[in-house]
Amino acid sequence: MTLLERYAEVAGRDVVEHLRQLAGLLKGARVVHVNATATGGGVAEILAPLIPLSRELGLDARWEVLDGTPEFFACTKLMHNAIQGKRAAPDEQALRAYEEVNAGNAARLTGVLNDAEFVFVHDPQPAALIRHFSKRSGHWIWRCHIDASHPDSRVWRYLQTHVAGYDASVFSLPAFVRALPHRSYVIPPAIDPLGDKNRDLPDEQVRSICERNGLDMNRPRIVQISRFDWFKDPLGVIAAYRIAKPFLPELQLLLAGGGASDDPEGVEVLRAVREEAGDDPDIHVADLPPGDNVTVNALQRGADIVVQKSLREGFGLTVAEGFWKGRPVIGGDTGGIRLQVVDHHTGFLVASAEGAALRIRYLLHDDARRQRMGEKAREFARRSFLLTRQLREYLTLMVALQRGAEERIGAD
Ligand code: UDP
Repeated sequence: MTLLERYAEVAGRDVVEHLRQLAGLLKGARVVHVNATATGGGVAEILAPLIPLSRELGLDARWEVLDGTPEFFACTKLMHNAIQGKRAAPDEQALRAYEEVNAGNAARLTGVLNDAEFVFVHDPQPAALIRHFSKRSGHWIWRCHIDASHPDSRVWRYLQTHVAGYDASVFSLPAFVRALPHRSYVIPPAIDPLGDKNRDLPDEQVRSICERNGLDMNRPRIVQISRFDWFKDPLGVIAAYRIAKPFLPELQLLLAGGGASDDPEGVEVLRAVREEAGDDPDIHVADLPPGDNVTVNALQRGADIVVQKSLREGFGLTVAEGFWKGRPVIGGDTGGIRLQVVDHHTGFLVASAEGAALRIRYLLHDDARRQRMGEKAREFARRSFLLTRQLREYLTLMVALQRGAEERIGAD
């Protein structure tokens, strides 16, 4: 079976047909994506399936990864945090390392990038490449995956000197968009329905992974999977569970997450969560190793309700993942979750532990209703949050850039 056929099976024939029509307008177009890492992180996770899918659609797509130095990555980490609002800025020397690495990579990739009709540059790390292509003929797009709504002004001013040279920018949510001297587009993130985190799993495997994590599959289960971070409000989830528990004595809660080992705050949050859970045999806390996607998948599938009770959130990937598994999601009434959870349809938005507890009781009270909402959630994810939708929007953007001022664009 071809890749497109496999996507048609899960995402729908109509969706793949639409991709074919759009790609037909771009036949053979040379498209290059550039980012900073081949593995780990959301960008790599999406580029890995996006490239072969684009190629099967007839585009000449490729993916290039920056070669960096430790000084470069230290600088871009600071930059990343500053763009997301932390008051910190790289010094002159760090910026020199940033520019030197970009210059070196520009030299290494000269042929590929000069030949490309479309170059997607992901996030701040490779943003300065464009400096070295003043005679470029292709369309260059800066794809920002991070929340740039309240950046440190010094760092943004610096980054803007590079980004301003692009032909278009893409942000993940309307709230993240920054004023730039070119058009900005909003394209939300997506999940890969064929990847380990989201593909179908045999019931037996779901059961055994859930049981291994302490869940009794014959009793109700609520699950939140998130990095151990205060903004994910794990203590609020425990509070909601405790308020609901007297009404639902069989209720179980699983809080699973990772990232605690390389993040000092994560260690502190995990400790606080364990302390708060105390010796309650129905609260399970799992510290997952990085990249254990099948476990994440199984735990979301094993849940009756997926919870993402964040206090602050961009686009919540776990919300889309829960939907895709046919689970209604109880989500914090904040950021991108507001655009994902359609109250009473795909789940509930909540602003307190009491609110979350009420919704837990409501959803567990009526299996048929919960299932109906889960089905709506899955359909919503199919249309709005899959890789195929994201690719469709990238293709549309490319067509728009290529055709410029043409008023009508006909597709067969
Ligand atoms: N995730 C994971 N293991 C964990 C915790 C989270 O693989 O232990 C995944 C989760 O399934 C999702 C991503 O990491 O795909 C988190 O993205 P999200 O947008 O929900 O939150 P972020 O961590 O980016 O704030």
